[in-house]
Amino acid sequence: MTDTSDVYQGGCLCGAVRYKIEGAPEWSSHCHCRSCQRATGAAFTTWVGLKKDNFEVTKGHIKTCSTSPGVERGFCDRCGTSLTYAAEEGWPGQVSILAPTLDNPAIASPTAHVYVEHQLPWVKLNDGLPTREQF
Ligand SMILES: [Zn+2]
Ligand SMILES: [Zn+2]
Repeated sequence: MTDTSDVYQGGCLCGAVRYKIEGAPEWSSHCHCRSCQRATGAAFTTWVGLKKDNFEVTKGHIKTCSTSPGVERGFCDRCGTSLTYAAEEGWPGQVSILAPTLDNPAIASPTAHVYVEHQLPWVKLNDGLPTREQF
């Protein structure tokens, strides 16, 4: 995860939005928070985080919605695929990307489950990763 010469690409379900990231993501975690559940319609989500400078939209446009104070979630306004999360105050200069939207999601190496206080009762974790009440 330290080779910064790599370029990874990804995009939304319909193909209208494509992006690329330079270098491996700096971190990755599974998020069980209620906001991610609602935003993605999934029981939990897997994020990779990187510097905004290493992220570029190469096709189309990511529409953003301010979903809570200071938080901008990005999605394809054609097919609705959730793509990004940015919170400039809490995470200056950073953008998080939903790992499954990468062409090769396997490059993510999640190291924790976070916000497990919102973990759904029918999600049973058995991967041995640490769990945290918050991030
Ligand atoms: Zn799309
Ligand atoms: Zn979350």
